[in-house]
Formats: sequence, structure tokens, C-alpha cells
Amino acid sequence: MDFWQRASFFPVMMLVLALALWAIFNALTGAVFFSVVILLRYLGHLRQLAALERWAMHPETTPVPDASGLWDEVFSRLNKMMRKQREDQEHHRAALHQIEQATSALPEGVVILDEAGHIEWCNPLAEMHFGLDSKRDVGQQITYLARQPEFVQYLARDVFNDPLILRGTRQGELVLSIKVVSYGENKKLLISRDITHFERIETMRRDFVANVSHELRTPLTVVNGFVETLQDMPKLENDMARRALQLMGEQTRRMETLVDDLLTLSRLENSQNLLVEEEVDVPALLESLHRDGLALSAGQHKIRLEIASSARLQGNTAELRSAFGNLVSNAVRYTPKDGEIVMHWEVQPDGRAVFSVKDSGIGIAPEHIPRLTERFYRVDRSRSRETGGTGLGLAIVKHIVNRHQAQLHVVSQEGEGSTFGIIFPLQRVLA
Ligand code: ADP
Repeated sequence: MDFWQRASFFPVMMLVLALALWAIFNALTGAVFFSVVILLRYLGHLRQLAALERWAMHPETTPVPDASGLWDEVFSRLNKMMRKQREDQEHHRAALHQIEQATSALPEGVVILDEAGHIEWCNPLAEMHFGLDSKRDVGQQITYLARQPEFVQYLARDVFNDPLILRGTRQGELVLSIKVVSYGENKKLLISRDITHFERIETMRRDFVANVSHELRTPLTVVNGFVETLQDMPKLENDMARRALQLMGEQTRRMETLVDDLLTLSRLENSQNLLVEEEVDVPALLESLHRDGLALSAGQHKIRLEIASSARLQGNTAELRSAFGNLVSNAVRYTPKDGEIVMHWEVQPDGRAVFSVKDSGIGIAPEHIPRLTERFYRVDRSRSRETGGTGLGLAIVKHIVNRHQAQLHVVSQEGEGSTFGIIFPLQRVLA
């Protein structure tokens, strides 16, 4: 029976009885009888409604009341719903507990941030990394608790491709690598990793290279000086001695270049060595590098300089001279005789400025391109050496490019030539 059939059964029965009483006695008896039973029924409904209201005030703690008739069905459904809800809650609580246990066991700190950067949740390792207290600090702005400017700037970004290396946290000596993953509706997952140990090893390696290079410099200069003096001696007639001195001279000069490049790299890698900013007159710098390129090529190549913009850059002249110069010298060294080289400076429609060097040289196979900026990575070791390369040029370029928040772009085809471009961000371009 559906609800309306069940609901109308009682009044219809009572109506039939009332009609019977009317027929047997009189109309008044029938009417009084009908009114009294309907009133009693109504009071019964009110009692059940009151029980329902009492239950609804504390549904979690009070059991669903017992009932009869039509209400029995309603209450038994409510009972079922409550039981299902309790089961679901228990299930969710167990799943949440498992996730919490898993994230607590993660070897990385995890903080969940809402769209405004408030902490929603963090695991014990994140508490340690940022000096947080998961109970006290939930709902707080993370940048209020970790206030380093570079951290605040990093969080304000839209894209998080590179991790942020954060030193000087509230936890003293700790060095953290921080990565942010956006998810859901503007939520962020902040992942922190303790890299103090790696940093210490890396610093030791850097210091070692810098110290060795520094120590080698003086003896090398002395040896080179003597070799040059001996070469210049008018009485040196023995051909073998002359040849030996020439080779010694070449090798000591190579070693000097190598030591210079290693020291340049150490300087650029030193995090304390901040970029000294100035206004760089790029067109004038390129004119000068063009002359250097022509001297290096010694008439073997056609080198063209195209200055399509008079824009200057906010940056460091010496560093940019080194980076641009490296690209020009590579183009000369890896382009056979009679090849063509174009140095180009322009500001793109999007406001970013680009310096590029295009050559018609030997080109680079695609598998080598991602590795060119690694220290000592060379496609052809002997060609690099023959032309006086150290294998450190592009590593230096990459560092300088990073220090200027620019990007190094390489397009090349084996046997056809290469284009190396440095793209500077809008905020560095001075119109
Ligand atoms: P190197 O001192 O050996 O030139 P770099 O770091 O400047 O070292 O360059 C790394 C390698 O990239 C080079 O050994 C060479 O194989 C390749 N390379 C760099 N520039 C060019 C270029 N313009 N054309 C072809 N190959 C290049």
C-alpha cells in the first residue's frame, strides 16, 4: 500500500462507522463520534511530532524514538539513515586516519594551504621545518610564520617549476628545498625537504674547487712566465727545445684559462655573491664584442651585427660581457672557414629582450642539447680542445643567465648551424 492509501484507511473506516451510527441512531451521534476519533488521532500525531522534534535537537546522541502507525515507517527510515551515516563517518574517519599516518611517515614536510595562503593542515615534518604547531597555527597565514622575503615572493607566484632553496629558516641552520603544487580550487600543497646535508657537501665541493684553482694560479703564472722568457731567448737554436717550449707554453696557457674559468664559476655559484646591478648599454657592449669576434675569427668568417633595438638592460656589464662573449666565441670556434655568424639584439612584441648568436657551423645533435650547460660536457672533446675550449663556457653562461632571471634557448641542426639565444624578462629591459 502506498502512503495515501495507508493514510486514508483510518479516516475512511471511521467515516463508514460514523455513517452507520447515523443510520442506527441519529446524525448527531455519528458526527460526535467522528469528531472525537479524528481529534484523538490528531493528538496522537502531535505526540509523535513532539518526539521527532526532541530527537532532532540532538540527533547524534539521542536514539530515534519508537513509533506506531504511519510514523513507524518514517522513524524506521530515519533510523536506517542515521545508521548509514554513522557507518560512512566511521569509514571516512578510518580513511583519514590512514592518510594522516601515511603523510606523517613521508620523508618530506607537507602543508596544505587554502586559496588565501592560510594553513589548513601540516604533517609533523613540516612542523619541524617551519617551526609550526599543527594545533595552534591552523588558520594562520603561512607567510606570517615564515617571513623570508624570497619565500613570500615564491608563494605569490603562479607557476612553480623550480624549487626554492630556503636558508635561514626559524630552525636556524636548516636549508630547505621547497616546492609548491597547485590543486583543486586555488589550493596549494607545500612540500619541504631538508637538504642541509647536501648543501654542506656541495659547499665543500665548491670551496675545494675554488681553493685548488686559487692555489694553482700562482705556480702556473710563474711557469708560464719562465716558458715565455725561455722562448724569447735569442740563443735558443735547438729545434726540439724550441718545439718543447712552444708546447709547454700552449699547455700552461690552457691551464691558466681553465683555472680562470673555474674561479669565475666558483664566484658565480657563491650564494653570497649577489648580482651588482647597473644599467648595461647593450648596443655599445655588442659593438665591442663584435670587434672581439672579428679578431678571434681573423678574417675566416663573415660576422654581422644587427642591433634592432636601442634598449638597455638592468644587469651586470662584466657578467653579460662574459656570457655574450662566450656565445660569440663558440660560434666562431664551431663554424668552419667562410661560415656566417649573426649577432642580433631586439625587443620582442611581448616586451622581453633577446640577444642571439646564429651560426652556420657544425651544429649539435638533439640528444646533446639538454646537457651542453653541464660542466666539462663537450660534444666533440678534441675539437673543443683544439680551439682552446675548457668545456666550462656554457656552464658560466647558464649561471649568468640565471642570475639575470633570463632563459637560455638553443636551436640547432647538425651540419646546418646553431642559434643560441638569451631571453631577458620584461622587468630587466630599460627602453
Ligand atoms: P667549450 O669550451 O668546449 O666550447 P662550452 O661549454 O662553451 O665548452 O660548450 C660546450 C659544448 O657545446 C662544446 O664543446 C660544443 O660541443 C658545443 N657547442 C657550443 N657552442 C656551439 C656552437 N655554436 N656550435 C656547435 N657546438 C657548440
